[in-house]
Amino acid sequence: MRFFHSSARLSAPSRATCDRLRTTRFLLNPLAIHAFNPGPITGAGNWTWLLPGRVSTLIDAGTGDPRHIDALERALAGERLAQVLVTHAHADHASGAPAMAERMPGVQFRKMPWPDRDLKWPVSWQPLADGEVVSAGDTSLVTVHTPGHAPDHVCFWHEETRTLLCGDLAVKGTTVWIPSSLKGDLSDYLASLERVLRLNPQRLLPAHGPVINEPHKLLRAYIAHKLEREAQVLDALGRGDTNPDAIVARVYAGLKESLAPMARENVVSHLVKLAREGRATSDDNGWRLINPISL
Ligand SMILES: [Zn+2]
Repeated sequence: MRFFHSSARLSAPSRATCDRLRTTRFLLNPLAIHAFNPGPITGAGNWTWLLPGRVSTLIDAGTGDPRHIDALERALAGERLAQVLVTHAHADHASGAPAMAERMPGVQFRKMPWPDRDLKWPVSWQPLADGEVVSAGDTSLVTVHTPGHAPDHVCFWHEETRTLLCGDLAVKGTTVWIPSSLKGDLSDYLASLERVLRLNPQRLLPAHGPVINEPHKLLRAYIAHKLEREAQVLDALGRGDTNPDAIVARVYAGLKESLAPMARENVVSHLVKLAREGRATSDDNGWRLINPISL
């Protein structure tokens, strides 16, 4: 496996993982290409995944950093990129589309529509639908709608190697942000984790961090963590906290101030889920439990 990035600090997907993928009958042969976009939200930055072959395909567009597109061209070694499949419309995955379109005319850009948001990255987006089979590289991938982190979030499933190109569904070493103000939805996210578990994947190729070789362990830990957090939010409401900031202060004790807005989004996503389930409600006085006994 080749990597195209500039920093040794990055947690690179392992060579062994990708060698195993090569020995299968249906070649996946993914190449990790770094998007050169480290930052407070992206951590070390994004991986994009190139599947070279008959239909050379890139998973995620990055942010348009010229070093990313240079690395992509080097990896293509003279082949033409046919398409970019985008996992969701967050900027670190989709905003590079226009720059890529300019450097590589004729490339198709495909994603599940999120019309308001897609307009921010003006290319001719072709729609992808849940269950749609897409030729990619020398094989094909199934589009799996996995909303929660974002309403348009999809993963791409390679049945033959039981590999899921998972976007932001999972990031080893941390949990996934559910931004309620950007149509993140915790109930949807938990359902998406269950859906992916039912696929019985052997490995996840994420957009951040290293390859995930024990997906069941991580995804089950995510579900347990969210339920634990939910219990903490219920407890905070039971103790009289009425707004997300108070709940953040109680539940995320010792949190760095810069991370508070993200924690607040997570807490709101819990409150929205509890309201939907009839366990909490809000009015002019803030949030409260509907039936404290149900605690
Ligand atoms: Zn995202």
